[in-house]
Amino acid sequence: MTAIHFPDADYAGRIARVRAAMADQGVDALLVSVGNDLPYLTGYGAMPSERLTMGVITANDSVIVIPELEAPRVVDRGASSVHPWGETEDPIAIVAKLAGRARRVAVGAQTWSVFLVRLQQQLGGAQFVDATAVTRPLRIIKDESEIDLLRRAGSAVDAVVERLRTIKFSGRTEAQLARDVMEMTVEEGHEVATFHIVASGPNAASPHHEPGDRVIGDGDCVVVDFGGRLGAYCSDTTRTFHVGEPTAEYSEAFAALEASQSAGRAAVGPGVVAQDVDRAARQVLVDSGHAEWFIHRLGHGIGLDGHEDPYLVEGNTEVLQPGMAFSVEPGIYMPGQWGMRIEDILVCTQDGRECLNNSPRSLVIVE
Ligand code: ZN
Ligand code: ZN
Repeated sequence: MTAIHFPDADYAGRIARVRAAMADQGVDALLVSVGNDLPYLTGYGAMPSERLTMGVITANDSVIVIPELEAPRVVDRGASSVHPWGETEDPIAIVAKLAGRARRVAVGAQTWSVFLVRLQQQLGGAQFVDATAVTRPLRIIKDESEIDLLRRAGSAVDAVVERLRTIKFSGRTEAQLARDVMEMTVEEGHEVATFHIVASGPNAASPHHEPGDRVIGDGDCVVVDFGGRLGAYCSDTTRTFHVGEPTAEYSEAFAALEASQSAGRAAVGPGVVAQDVDRAARQVLVDSGHAEWFIHRLGHGIGLDGHEDPYLVEGNTEVLQPGMAFSVEPGIYMPGQWGMRIEDILVCTQDGRECLNNSPRSLVIVE
Protein backbone atom coordinates (compact mmCIF):
# COMPACT_ATOMS: atom_id res chain seq x y z
CA MET A 1 0.00 0.00 0.00
CA THR A 2 1.40 3.38 -0.98
CA ALA A 3 1.22 5.86 1.85
CA ILE A 4 -0.74 8.98 1.04
CA HIS A 5 0.65 12.11 2.62
CA PHE A 6 -2.11 14.45 3.57
CA PRO A 7 -1.44 18.13 3.05
CA ASP A 8 -1.14 20.90 5.57
CA ALA A 9 -4.56 22.39 6.07
CA ASP A 10 -6.61 24.23 8.65
CA TYR A 11 -7.41 21.10 10.65
CA ALA A 12 -8.36 23.07 13.75
CA GLY A 13 -10.88 24.99 11.65
CA ARG A 14 -12.30 21.78 10.22
CA ILE A 15 -12.72 20.26 13.68
CA ALA A 16 -14.44 23.43 14.87
CA ARG A 17 -16.83 23.27 11.93
CA VAL A 18 -17.58 19.58 12.36
CA ARG A 19 -18.31 20.24 16.05
CA ALA A 20 -20.80 22.88 15.00
CA ALA A 21 -22.44 20.37 12.65
CA MET A 22 -22.48 17.80 15.46
CA ALA A 23 -24.12 20.28 17.82
CA ASP A 24 -26.73 21.10 15.17
CA GLN A 25 -27.61 17.46 14.76
CA GLY A 26 -27.39 16.45 18.41
CA VAL A 27 -24.35 14.23 17.83
CA ASP A 28 -22.25 13.82 20.99
CA ALA A 29 -19.39 11.78 19.53
CA LEU A 30 -18.00 11.39 16.03
CA LEU A 31 -16.04 8.16 15.42
CA VAL A 32 -14.11 7.91 12.15
CA SER A 33 -11.78 5.13 11.08
CA VAL A 34 -10.68 4.02 7.59
CA GLY A 35 -11.92 6.26 4.79
CA ASN A 36 -11.29 9.93 4.23
CA ASP A 37 -13.28 11.59 7.02
CA LEU A 38 -10.42 10.94 9.47
CA PRO A 39 -7.67 12.47 7.29
CA TYR A 40 -9.96 15.33 6.27
CA LEU A 41 -10.37 16.25 9.94
CA THR A 42 -6.97 15.32 11.36
CA GLY A 43 -4.46 15.00 8.51
CA TYR A 44 -3.92 11.32 9.36
CA GLY A 45 -5.24 8.39 7.34
CA ALA A 46 -5.86 5.07 9.14
CA MET A 47 -4.11 1.95 7.92
CA PRO A 48 -6.83 -0.51 6.93
CA SER A 49 -6.08 -3.23 9.45
CA GLU A 50 -7.50 -5.50 12.12
CA ARG A 51 -5.86 -3.12 14.60
CA LEU A 52 -8.30 -0.30 15.16
CA THR A 53 -7.41 3.29 14.35
CA MET A 54 -10.21 5.68 15.19
CA GLY A 55 -10.60 9.42 15.54
CA VAL A 56 -12.85 10.32 18.45
CA ILE A 57 -14.25 13.82 18.27
CA THR A 58 -16.45 15.16 21.04
CA ALA A 59 -17.34 18.69 22.14
CA ASN A 60 -14.09 18.97 24.08
CA ASP A 61 -11.67 16.46 22.59
CA SER A 62 -10.21 15.34 19.32
CA VAL A 63 -8.18 12.17 19.82
CA ILE A 64 -6.69 9.66 17.40
CA VAL A 65 -6.81 6.20 19.01
CA ILE A 66 -4.09 4.30 17.22
CA PRO A 67 -2.04 1.09 17.54
CA GLU A 68 1.12 1.94 19.44
CA LEU A 69 3.33 0.68 16.62
CA GLU A 70 1.65 3.05 14.15
CA ALA A 71 1.66 6.13 16.39
CA PRO A 72 4.99 7.37 14.95
CA ARG A 73 3.26 7.73 11.57
CA VAL A 74 1.07 10.56 12.88
CA VAL A 75 2.22 14.04 11.93
CA ASP A 76 1.34 16.51 14.68
CA ARG A 77 -1.10 18.98 13.13
CA GLY A 78 -1.74 20.73 16.41
CA ALA A 79 -5.47 20.02 16.37
CA SER A 80 -5.76 16.46 17.69
CA SER A 81 -3.98 14.42 20.31
CA VAL A 82 -2.84 10.82 19.96
CA HIS A 83 -3.85 7.95 22.23
CA PRO A 84 -1.68 4.91 21.41
CA TRP A 85 -2.93 1.51 22.53
CA GLY A 86 -0.69 -1.46 23.30
CA GLU A 87 -1.09 -4.92 21.84
CA THR A 88 -2.86 -6.30 24.93
CA GLU A 89 -5.27 -3.40 25.36
CA ASP A 90 -8.83 -3.25 24.05
CA PRO A 91 -9.08 -0.24 21.71
CA ILE A 92 -12.87 -0.47 21.63
CA ALA A 93 -12.96 0.10 25.37
CA ILE A 94 -10.65 3.11 24.97
CA VAL A 95 -12.91 4.61 22.31
CA ALA A 96 -16.01 3.90 24.40
CA LYS A 97 -14.42 5.66 27.38
CA LEU A 98 -13.45 8.70 25.29
CA ALA A 99 -16.97 8.86 23.87
CA GLY A 100 -18.21 9.05 27.46
CA ARG A 101 -21.94 9.13 27.89
CA ALA A 102 -22.66 9.92 24.27
CA ARG A 103 -26.30 9.34 23.45
CA ARG A 104 -26.00 9.92 19.75
CA VAL A 105 -22.87 8.59 18.04
CA ALA A 106 -21.95 9.27 14.40
CA VAL A 107 -19.78 6.56 12.83
CA GLY A 108 -17.73 6.95 9.65
CA ALA A 109 -19.44 5.40 6.65
CA GLN A 110 -16.57 3.03 5.91
CA THR A 111 -16.02 1.77 9.45
CA TRP A 112 -15.77 -2.03 9.43
CA SER A 113 -18.63 -3.91 11.06
CA VAL A 114 -16.12 -5.88 13.16
CA PHE A 115 -15.50 -2.63 15.04
CA LEU A 116 -18.97 -1.14 14.77
CA VAL A 117 -20.73 -4.17 16.28
CA ARG A 118 -18.40 -4.13 19.29
CA LEU A 119 -18.81 -0.37 19.69
CA GLN A 120 -22.57 -0.83 19.72
CA GLN A 121 -22.18 -3.44 22.47
CA GLN A 122 -19.92 -1.25 24.61
CA LEU A 123 -21.90 1.94 24.06
CA GLY A 124 -25.20 0.24 24.77
CA GLY A 125 -28.15 2.60 24.68
CA ALA A 126 -26.51 5.10 22.32
CA GLN A 127 -28.10 5.78 18.98
CA PHE A 128 -25.74 5.19 16.05
CA VAL A 129 -25.97 7.29 12.88
CA ASP A 130 -23.93 7.57 9.68
CA ALA A 131 -21.22 10.24 10.11
CA THR A 132 -21.79 11.37 6.54
CA ALA A 133 -24.54 13.60 7.91
CA VAL A 134 -21.98 15.72 9.78
CA THR A 135 -18.92 15.42 7.51
CA ARG A 136 -20.63 15.72 4.13
CA PRO A 137 -21.57 19.43 4.38
CA LEU A 138 -17.90 20.24 5.08
CA ARG A 139 -16.25 17.95 2.57
CA ILE A 140 -18.59 18.80 -0.30
CA ILE A 141 -17.37 22.42 -0.39
CA LYS A 142 -13.67 22.54 -1.26
CA ASP A 143 -11.57 25.40 0.06
CA GLU A 144 -8.90 27.15 -2.02
CA SER A 145 -6.11 24.82 -0.92
CA GLU A 146 -8.18 21.77 -1.87
CA ILE A 147 -9.13 23.25 -5.24
CA ASP A 148 -5.49 24.00 -5.87
CA LEU A 149 -4.57 20.34 -5.29
CA LEU A 150 -7.42 19.19 -7.55
CA ARG A 151 -6.19 21.67 -10.16
CA ARG A 152 -2.64 20.33 -9.96
CA ALA A 153 -3.89 16.74 -10.18
CA GLY A 154 -5.95 17.75 -13.22
CA SER A 155 -2.95 19.31 -14.96
CA ALA A 156 -0.91 16.19 -14.25
CA VAL A 157 -3.39 13.87 -15.98
CA ASP A 158 -3.66 16.36 -18.84
CA ALA A 159 0.11 16.00 -19.28
CA VAL A 160 -0.33 12.22 -19.49
CA VAL A 161 -3.00 12.67 -22.19
CA GLU A 162 -0.58 14.87 -24.15
CA ARG A 163 1.97 12.04 -24.08
CA LEU A 164 -0.65 9.45 -25.07
CA ARG A 165 -1.49 11.48 -28.15
CA THR A 166 1.95 10.78 -29.58
CA ILE A 167 2.44 7.08 -28.85
CA LYS A 168 1.62 4.04 -30.96
CA PHE A 169 -1.44 2.10 -29.81
CA SER A 170 -1.70 -0.69 -32.38
CA GLY A 171 0.05 -3.96 -31.66
CA ARG A 172 -0.04 -3.46 -27.91
CA THR A 173 -2.40 -5.03 -25.43
CA GLU A 174 -4.79 -3.05 -23.26
CA ALA A 175 -2.87 -4.22 -20.21
CA GLN A 176 0.47 -2.97 -21.60
CA LEU A 177 -1.01 0.42 -22.44
CA ALA A 178 -2.64 0.57 -19.01
CA ARG A 179 0.73 -0.05 -17.38
CA ASP A 180 2.22 2.83 -19.36
CA VAL A 181 -0.65 5.08 -18.34
CA MET A 182 -0.05 4.17 -14.71
CA GLU A 183 3.68 4.92 -14.93
CA MET A 184 3.08 8.23 -16.67
CA THR A 185 0.49 9.18 -14.03
CA VAL A 186 3.18 8.87 -11.37
CA GLU A 187 5.89 10.46 -13.54
CA GLU A 188 3.69 13.52 -14.01
CA GLY A 189 3.51 14.13 -10.28
CA HIS A 190 0.92 11.87 -8.66
CA GLU A 191 1.91 10.00 -5.50
CA VAL A 192 0.00 7.01 -6.75
CA ALA A 193 -1.96 5.94 -9.82
CA THR A 194 -5.27 4.67 -8.49
CA PHE A 195 -7.01 3.30 -11.58
CA HIS A 196 -6.51 2.96 -15.32
CA ILE A 197 -9.20 1.79 -17.70
CA VAL A 198 -8.02 0.99 -21.23
CA ALA A 199 -10.94 -0.41 -23.21
CA SER A 200 -10.52 -1.15 -26.91
CA GLY A 201 -12.90 -2.07 -29.72
CA PRO A 202 -15.99 -3.87 -28.38
CA ASN A 203 -14.53 -3.74 -24.85
CA ALA A 204 -15.07 0.03 -24.94
CA ALA A 205 -18.78 -0.65 -24.61
CA SER A 206 -18.09 -1.63 -20.97
CA PRO A 207 -17.62 1.63 -19.03
CA HIS A 208 -15.57 0.02 -16.24
CA HIS A 209 -13.69 -2.50 -18.39
CA GLU A 210 -10.69 -4.22 -16.81
CA PRO A 211 -7.73 -3.92 -19.24
CA GLY A 212 -6.79 -7.35 -20.55
CA ASP A 213 -4.86 -9.22 -23.20
CA ARG A 214 -6.78 -7.88 -26.17
CA VAL A 215 -4.34 -6.56 -28.76
CA ILE A 216 -5.27 -3.11 -30.01
CA GLY A 217 -5.49 -3.00 -33.79
CA ASP A 218 -6.41 -0.86 -36.76
CA GLY A 219 -9.96 0.44 -36.66
CA ASP A 220 -10.27 0.17 -32.87
CA CYS A 221 -11.62 2.88 -30.65
CA VAL A 222 -9.80 3.05 -27.29
CA VAL A 223 -11.33 4.65 -24.20
CA VAL A 224 -8.67 5.63 -21.67
CA ASP A 225 -10.01 6.66 -18.25
CA PHE A 226 -7.49 7.05 -15.47
CA GLY A 227 -6.39 8.99 -12.43
CA GLY A 228 -4.34 9.08 -9.29
CA ARG A 229 -3.81 11.06 -6.12
CA LEU A 230 -1.68 14.17 -5.90
CA GLY A 231 -1.34 15.79 -2.48
CA ALA A 232 -3.99 13.22 -1.48
CA TYR A 233 -6.54 14.68 -3.92
CA CYS A 234 -7.86 12.68 -6.86
CA SER A 235 -7.67 13.18 -10.58
CA ASP A 236 -9.96 11.48 -13.10
CA THR A 237 -10.12 12.11 -16.83
CA THR A 238 -11.22 10.23 -19.92
CA ARG A 239 -10.24 10.72 -23.53
CA THR A 240 -11.17 8.54 -26.47
CA PHE A 241 -8.61 7.51 -29.08
CA HIS A 242 -9.05 5.82 -32.45
CA VAL A 243 -6.54 3.76 -34.38
CA GLY A 244 -6.87 5.11 -37.89
CA GLU A 245 -9.94 6.86 -39.25
CA PRO A 246 -13.30 6.04 -37.65
CA THR A 247 -16.43 4.99 -39.51
CA ALA A 248 -19.08 7.59 -40.38
CA GLU A 249 -21.35 6.06 -37.71
CA TYR A 250 -18.65 6.44 -35.05
CA SER A 251 -17.76 10.00 -36.10
CA GLU A 252 -21.36 11.04 -35.98
CA ALA A 253 -21.81 9.56 -32.50
CA PHE A 254 -18.61 11.23 -31.32
CA ALA A 255 -19.79 14.62 -32.55
CA ALA A 256 -22.96 14.14 -30.51
CA LEU A 257 -20.90 13.10 -27.48
CA GLU A 258 -18.71 16.21 -27.71
CA ALA A 259 -21.82 18.39 -27.93
CA SER A 260 -23.33 16.57 -24.95
CA GLN A 261 -20.21 16.96 -22.81
CA SER A 262 -19.94 20.60 -23.77
CA ALA A 263 -23.61 21.18 -22.86
CA GLY A 264 -22.99 19.48 -19.51
CA ARG A 265 -20.02 21.74 -18.75
CA ALA A 266 -21.92 24.84 -19.84
CA ALA A 267 -24.82 23.95 -17.52
CA VAL A 268 -22.62 24.03 -14.41
CA GLY A 269 -22.94 27.04 -12.14
CA PRO A 270 -23.97 28.14 -8.66
CA GLY A 271 -27.67 27.70 -7.97
CA VAL A 272 -28.07 25.00 -10.63
CA VAL A 273 -29.74 21.77 -9.52
CA ALA A 274 -27.44 18.74 -9.90
CA GLN A 275 -29.90 16.71 -11.97
CA ASP A 276 -30.29 19.59 -14.43
CA VAL A 277 -26.64 19.28 -15.45
CA ASP A 278 -27.25 15.59 -16.20
CA ARG A 279 -30.39 16.55 -18.11
CA ALA A 280 -28.59 19.20 -20.17
CA ALA A 281 -25.98 16.72 -21.37
CA ARG A 282 -28.48 13.88 -21.82
CA GLN A 283 -30.88 15.96 -23.88
CA VAL A 284 -28.23 16.39 -26.60
CA LEU A 285 -28.01 12.61 -26.88
CA VAL A 286 -31.81 12.29 -26.85
CA ASP A 287 -31.91 14.67 -29.81
CA SER A 288 -29.17 12.81 -31.68
CA GLY A 289 -30.75 9.41 -31.01
CA HIS A 290 -27.95 8.07 -28.79
CA ALA A 291 -29.47 8.46 -25.32
CA GLU A 292 -30.41 4.77 -25.09
CA TRP A 293 -26.68 3.94 -25.02
CA PHE A 294 -25.71 6.50 -22.37
CA ILE A 295 -26.18 4.07 -19.50
CA HIS A 296 -24.78 5.90 -16.47
CA ARG A 297 -25.13 9.15 -14.55
CA LEU A 298 -23.35 12.21 -15.89
CA GLY A 299 -20.92 12.68 -13.04
CA HIS A 300 -19.68 12.23 -9.50
CA GLY A 301 -18.09 14.49 -6.94
CA ILE A 302 -14.35 14.22 -6.38
CA GLY A 303 -11.92 15.23 -3.66
CA LEU A 304 -10.08 12.99 -1.21
CA ASP A 305 -12.32 10.22 -2.60
CA GLY A 306 -12.45 9.46 -6.29
CA HIS A 307 -16.23 9.23 -6.07
CA GLU A 308 -18.03 11.35 -3.46
CA ASP A 309 -20.91 13.80 -3.23
CA PRO A 310 -22.39 15.51 -5.16
CA TYR A 311 -23.60 13.13 -7.87
CA LEU A 312 -24.91 14.58 -11.11
CA VAL A 313 -27.80 12.21 -11.61
CA GLU A 314 -31.53 12.32 -12.27
CA GLY A 315 -33.27 12.59 -8.90
CA ASN A 316 -30.55 14.61 -7.17
CA THR A 317 -32.12 17.98 -6.47
CA GLU A 318 -29.13 19.31 -4.54
CA VAL A 319 -28.20 22.85 -5.55
CA LEU A 320 -24.64 23.34 -6.79
CA GLN A 321 -22.55 25.80 -4.79
CA PRO A 322 -19.14 27.40 -5.32
CA GLY A 323 -16.44 24.98 -4.20
CA MET A 324 -18.19 21.79 -5.29
CA ALA A 325 -16.03 19.64 -7.59
CA PHE A 326 -17.32 16.87 -9.85
CA SER A 327 -16.91 15.11 -13.16
CA VAL A 328 -18.89 15.67 -16.35
CA GLU A 329 -18.55 12.42 -18.28
CA PRO A 330 -21.15 11.36 -20.79
CA GLY A 331 -20.50 8.20 -22.79
CA ILE A 332 -22.09 6.18 -25.57
CA TYR A 333 -21.75 2.40 -25.39
CA MET A 334 -22.82 0.20 -28.29
CA PRO A 335 -22.82 -3.35 -26.89
CA GLY A 336 -20.52 -5.72 -28.74
CA GLN A 337 -19.28 -2.96 -31.03
CA TRP A 338 -17.71 0.18 -29.61
CA GLY A 339 -17.77 2.83 -26.92
CA MET A 340 -16.73 6.40 -26.25
CA ARG A 341 -16.52 8.76 -23.26
CA ILE A 342 -15.22 12.25 -22.53
CA GLU A 343 -14.58 13.22 -18.91
CA ASP A 344 -13.41 16.40 -17.22
CA ILE A 345 -13.39 17.54 -13.61
CA LEU A 346 -15.05 20.90 -12.97
CA VAL A 347 -15.30 23.16 -9.96
CA CYS A 348 -18.39 25.28 -9.48
CA THR A 349 -17.31 28.92 -8.95
CA GLN A 350 -19.05 32.14 -7.86
CA ASP A 351 -19.81 33.04 -11.45
CA GLY A 352 -19.87 29.72 -13.24
CA ARG A 353 -17.30 26.98 -13.48
CA GLU A 354 -13.64 26.23 -13.79
CA CYS A 355 -12.63 23.21 -15.83
CA LEU A 356 -9.65 21.41 -14.31
CA ASN A 357 -8.98 19.24 -17.38
CA ASN A 358 -8.07 21.08 -20.51
CA SER A 359 -6.49 18.61 -22.91
CA PRO A 360 -8.27 18.57 -26.31
CA ARG A 361 -11.52 16.61 -26.13
CA SER A 362 -11.89 15.70 -29.77
CA LEU A 363 -11.32 12.13 -30.96
CA VAL A 364 -7.59 11.48 -31.03
CA ILE A 365 -6.46 9.61 -34.13
CA VAL A 366 -3.47 7.45 -33.30
CA GLU A 367 -1.46 4.78 -35.06
ZN1 ZN B 1 -13.00 8.45 -15.00
ZN1 ZN C 1 -15.14 9.75 -13.22
